[in-house]
Amino acid sequence: MELFLGIYFFIFGLLIGSFLNVVILRLPLKKDLIHKRSGCPHCGTQLKWFHNLPVLSFIFLRGKCAFCGEKISLRYPVVEMLTGLVAFWLAPSEISTYQLIQFFFYFSVASIFICHFMIDLDHHLLLDNLNLILLIIVLSYAIYFLSLSYWVTGGMLGFCLPLLVTWLFYKLRGQIGLGGGDIKLYGILGIFLGPMGIIFTIFMSCLVGSIWGLTMIALNKMTKDRPMAFGPAILVVAAFQIFFPSYALIVQSWFF
Ligand SMILES: [Zn+2]
Repeated sequence: MELFLGIYFFIFGLLIGSFLNVVILRLPLKKDLIHKRSGCPHCGTQLKWFHNLPVLSFIFLRGKCAFCGEKISLRYPVVEMLTGLVAFWLAPSEISTYQLIQFFFYFSVASIFICHFMIDLDHHLLLDNLNLILLIIVLSYAIYFLSLSYWVTGGMLGFCLPLLVTWLFYKLRGQIGLGGGDIKLYGILGIFLGPMGIIFTIFMSCLVGSIWGLTMIALNKMTKDRPMAFGPAILVVAAFQIFFPSYALIVQSWFF
């Protein structure tokens, strides 16, 4: 029964993953998400429904467009597969209201994280509309399941601390360190992770971001006029804390 449910949720995740690809591609360009059928990014030909099956179509078409033969990026099936696996992993063991709410919460957070991650890599943007949806989901969860002092202090710290650091950095160096999207994301994450958790997120993401940045500089992959996207560092650290809380607490205890 559990495996059967898992497969059901896996297929659901694949379909949502297919939609996330559309969001990642179109949302930053302010294009319509629902009404227009997907087209090949190279030749623009509208795809038939059987070219649009998550992961399967990519395998059948051997990674090439059915019309022009151009290569289709591997990221499409990767995003679909990842979303499917996340849904499988989070799938409830029985259908109850409580378990479904938990599934919906964690799965929506994961979906927004995937979109944020890819869009920030592509465009160096954490979009306001995605942050707003995340805020609504996290806030509703917090109001229902978390204590008021926990989520209010977490949210305030998550928003004010990075804002203060950015302001100081700007005053001292005349440079803007963190983008507005990063600061808003920290604030939203603080609501869920609480005061200690969000301090750990800020600390760890700066560490991960610096290591990543220095590696890119060493490999000559980054130039001064094209700085790295910082969002992925925040998202990777926060995902670790949200989805593997017991491991995150162990790592947290090494530092605090
Ligand atoms: Zn094509």
